[in-house]
Amino acid sequence: MFSITKIRIVLPPQKVFLMEALASRLARFSEPETLKMAKLGRELRAQGHDVIDLSIGEPDFDVPQHVKEAAKKAIDDNWSHYTPVSGYLDVREAVCHKFKRDNNLEYTSENIVVSTGAKQTLANVILSIVNEGEEVIIPTPYWVTYAALVQLGKGVVKEMKTTPQSGYKITPAELDAVITPNSKAFLFSSPCNPSGAVYTKEELAALAEVFRKHPQVYIISDEIYEYINYRGAHESIAQFDGMKDRTIIVNGLSKGFAMTGWRLGFMAAPKEIAKGCEKLQGQMTSGTNSVAQKAAVVALTSSLDDTMEMVKEFKRRKNRVVQLLGEMEGVELAIPDGAFYAFPVVKSYFGKKTEKGEAINNADDLCMYLLNTAHVSTVTGSAFGDGDCIRISFANSMANIEKAMERIFNALKNLS
Ligand code: PLP
Repeated sequence: MFSITKIRIVLPPQKVFLMEALASRLARFSEPETLKMAKLGRELRAQGHDVIDLSIGEPDFDVPQHVKEAAKKAIDDNWSHYTPVSGYLDVREAVCHKFKRDNNLEYTSENIVVSTGAKQTLANVILSIVNEGEEVIIPTPYWVTYAALVQLGKGVVKEMKTTPQSGYKITPAELDAVITPNSKAFLFSSPCNPSGAVYTKEELAALAEVFRKHPQVYIISDEIYEYINYRGAHESIAQFDGMKDRTIIVNGLSKGFAMTGWRLGFMAAPKEIAKGCEKLQGQMTSGTNSVAQKAAVVALTSSLDDTMEMVKEFKRRKNRVVQLLGEMEGVELAIPDGAFYAFPVVKSYFGKKTEKGEAINNADDLCMYLLNTAHVSTVTGSAFGDGDCIRISFANSMANIEKAMERIFNALKNLS
């Protein structure tokens, strides 16, 4: 009797248990490679290695003082309760002010939804508008999360390959050729993470002309790197005839105000879509945190001097990274015009071997080699839909960047 009871309580092997525990939707996408590399770098550092992190996706600057003061005041003023799902009215009005000031776009508070980071904004939009089986056109290389969110929503990712020769930008003819009656949205970032590509006003006007021929397609325009632009004024596709009513602009405080940890993103969208996103967010997270919202009002309505100082420093680093990459044999680079990344083509190193005889077959192998041998963390281009490249962030000090680039130079030289 005793021994029978004992047999019954034996648990199944853990693998079987995990397969039953997790829903199949989790298998549709993977962990962001950017976060994985940062984690591996931390682990190596914990073992005592001097790891330089060039996988970083956030500014290495402090939050502007006046924004910090606004947050402290919000705490003292007891802005501590649940917030309206789409954001406090004064934040949404501040967002409208920003769009008028910076982009000459007129919105009202009903067009705006404030979220817990632009990542949630993107999740809201994609899950609100894309039905199962509908296509979302995404030019490669793209930010890691785009494809994962479309896959989560059971949409179909339709990649459009771009190359360094075209500056990682699509042409109107290529866009026209890829759109089908089943295309629900076109999703892109300008300035682009990871390539740094920035579309000019003329280029966006030409794409808008194509979109006017295909009224079923919404444009999701991720403008989170708006201020980190080395070529001049930012341009939004929403400014062109007929575009504003079918464009969802995604933006936030993470990059331009160095506020990644505060988690504040926002969008401007046609009212119906904003309402849909509000409904979804209402069941997911509710309104984003009260203190960050009150700080956002000040960030979005004050001078951008601190932001511009930061951009000046990014530009100095960008120029140095471009120069140093130019000295590396077999590396091809489209010079970034925005964001804080370089995305060099490194495929000439595929097929080579390390000193230990290990094969470098692809960008994943090369990143792991650079991490383990040179102790520099970068991100494989395959995470961004382009396996010929690696992403190098210049959100690190000039001294660290120079040291890291020298290590990369030597590590590449040692491949044969
Ligand atoms: N869009 C792009 C292109 C990004 O690079 C990032 C962050 O790395 C985001 C959106 C998300 O930003 P947030 O921190 O506001 O969620």
